[in-house]
This record gives sequence, C-alpha cells and structure tokens, in this order.
Amino acid sequence: MKILVLNAGSSSLKYQLFNMETGNVLAKGTCERIGAGGAITHKVPGRDNFYEEPDFKNHGAALKTVLELLVSKEHRVIEDVNEIDAVGHRVAHGGAKCRQSTKVTESVIKYLETIVPINPLHGPPAIAGIKACTELMPSVPQVAVFDTSFYSDMEDFRYVYPIPYDFYENDKIRRYGFHGTSHRYVSAEVARVIGRPIEELKIVTCHLGNGSSITAVDGGKAIDTSMGFTPQEGIAMGTRSGTVDPTVVTYLMKTKGYTAQEVEDILNKKSGLLGVSGISNDCRNIAEAAAEGNYRAQLAMKILINGIKKYIGSYVAEMNGIDALVFTAGIGENQMDIRREVCKNMSYLGIEIDEDKNANFERGVPFNITKSGARVQTWIIPTDEEYMIANDTKRLAFE
Ligand code: ADP
Repeated sequence: MKILVLNAGSSSLKYQLFNMETGNVLAKGTCERIGAGGAITHKVPGRDNFYEEPDFKNHGAALKTVLELLVSKEHRVIEDVNEIDAVGHRVAHGGAKCRQSTKVTESVIKYLETIVPINPLHGPPAIAGIKACTELMPSVPQVAVFDTSFYSDMEDFRYVYPIPYDFYENDKIRRYGFHGTSHRYVSAEVARVIGRPIEELKIVTCHLGNGSSITAVDGGKAIDTSMGFTPQEGIAMGTRSGTVDPTVVTYLMKTKGYTAQEVEDILNKKSGLLGVSGISNDCRNIAEAAAEGNYRAQLAMKILINGIKKYIGSYVAEMNGIDALVFTAGIGENQMDIRREVCKNMSYLGIEIDEDKNANFERGVPFNITKSGARVQTWIIPTDEEYMIANDTKRLAFE
C-alpha cells in the first residue's frame, strides 16, 4: 500500500510518499513560494536531490508537479499515479467537531470551511490541498489528521478560559491545543521504548521547534497542553511571544495606536526568541551569541528554559508525578544545552539526566538520557508526524 502525506502551509506544500508494507519513505519534498513564483525540492533516498523553480499559481499546480515527478522518467518512484492508494492530510485545526482523524467527505470540507475564522493561516491552504487532490485524484480516498484531535478528551476546566462563558458557547473560544500528532507519536513511542503499556504511564512531552508546545499525557490521553485557542499561547517560541499578560495587547493599541492586526503581527512574527534577542528566531544562532556573551541572547535562552520548566512543573503537579519526560522537534532533538538547563535542579521531581549521555546522544533514534537511579525516565524521541498521518490514513481510508 502506498500513501501520500500532504502538509499544506500558506505558501508551501510538503509531501512524503510512504510504502506502508516496509514503512519506508519512497520520496519526499517541499514546494515553496506557492502563489509568488515557485520552487520544489524533491528527494528520493539514494539519489541526488532535484530542485526546480516552476510557476506555482496555487496548491493545485504544486500538487500536479509533485504527481508528475513521482512518475517521471528521471525521478520516478512509482509507475503510475494510480498506485497511490490514499492521501493523508495534516490539518492544523479540527475545531469542536472534528475530534478524531477522519475520512474526508463533502461535509468534512464544508465544516472545515466554517472554522476558517479561527484557523485563518492554516485552514485555507489545507482545504486547497484537499480540493486539489479531489480534482487530480478523484477516486483516491483522503483522510484528514488534525493537530487538535489529540486534545479532544481534555476536561472542560482545562479548556474553558475564565472569561464570560458566552464566548465559549457562542464563539467557540477555548483551548484547542496544537502539535497533537507529534505529541501523540512521541508519547506512544516513549512507552514502546520503555517497554510499558502507555495506559500505565504519565508523560510530559516537550515539542520544541520553531513553534513549541508542551503536553501532559496521562494513560495515553492528552489531559492538558500549553497551546490554546491558537498556537500563540504557551512558552516563548522562535518568533511568537507565547503567553503574555493580555493587557499588553490593549495597552499597545491604546498607547501606540496599533491596529489589532499590527499587534497580532508583533506577537506572532516579531516576538519570542527573535524579539528578545534581536538576533534571530533560530535557537542555534542565539545559543552561539549567548556563548559569546551577548546579554539579550542569554536572556532569550533563560526565558525559554524557564518557560519549559514551569510547564513541566505544573504538569507534574496536575498528574501527581510523572514516569517519563520527552524532548522532541528541532530544539528538543538537537539542543543539548537546553535539555541540560531545563532538567537542572529538578531532582525534587524525580527528573535527573546523565550529562554525558545528553551531550553524546545519537541523532535520529529514540535515546535515553536518564541518570542511573532517577525516578523519571528522560528520552529524546525524534518526532514523525508524517508517519503518524500515514498510519491513520491506512486505518481509516478504506473503512
Ligand atoms: P518547525 O517548528 O519549523 O518544524 P523545527 O522543529 O525544525 O521547526 O525546529 C527549529 C528549531 O530547531 C530552530 O530553533 C533550530 O535552531 C533548532 N534546530 C534544528 N536543527 C538543529 C540542529 N541540528 N542543532 C541545533 N538546533 C537545531
């Protein structure tokens, strides 16, 4: 069985073609600058990467190029597009109704269209990706996998904000949570490598990338998470502020005359590590500048590390202790200094890591960095959202 996984962003389309019998990725790549020129990087294991700059007017044009490449004489990995058995889509937001991964139907598309107002950045490209598939591969079943659905079992007091209840009931303003596919994958994976049923485990998963979120997983279910109504809430991120006193927003609007959109842009695109350091949104550059003694880079790192610690501590409190702590995504998988600083002085909570293992970790595989004798197991688990999407697609496409 071959499954194509698509992840559509506002001007990008990422794809991976899986052979589900072997679990191997046959080809993967990224289409960029959709609607403003175009570029595609296509990778096939064991072959040279292919790069081209076609004109991508829309997501449909990009998908057409991807399908052509997959069967083209030079870059072929399948003989015919008909060999693709199903398509799985990453959809950031499933709103209140799409609580689980689901087969795509007309009514699912219609519902996703109704929630575009609460998912303005990711909703339209995801819908465009689904519609492009319907047009180019009409007989191929499609499955939508939502970042939010891992949180559908959260209890009301963890997702209702303490603002007038009407806003929840009528406007659907609540915590939704994001990165759910990643948290679901790494929590299942850590249970597997520890060798215990996930139903027995309390886990905190730290997905630390450009966007970052932390989730409390109790018995395999996400019970709480740092991101909220949008992916803006929580810890400081590459360019996002994470949680700030909401009065900062109104104060900026009142005193500086900013529009709502301008403040949103400041908090979304000019804040976080970039905003504090003034250097970069990329943790590597900030770590480098911090090591050279740059005060604002050091400050940005401290804010990030302290934020992560606070969430871990609060989730340990919510679950009355944890069995495992997981680091994943770009920063979590690679930045040993951040892991070390986050886990420093947490022995009270049972979290202690082996500094040597943390520094000499193996990349790309689950890696145990627990100090011998520590009560909590701490692991680096490479995330694989695409594989999770492919698996859900395999399970649901032919129901
Ligand atoms: P996204 O949320 O865009 O998927 P990633 O998960 O790729 O982001 O994470 C990006 C972050 O991870 C950046 O801050 C970057 O500095 C960090 N990162 C990625 N790769 C490495 C690496 N090899 N070494 C250190 N940091 C890395």
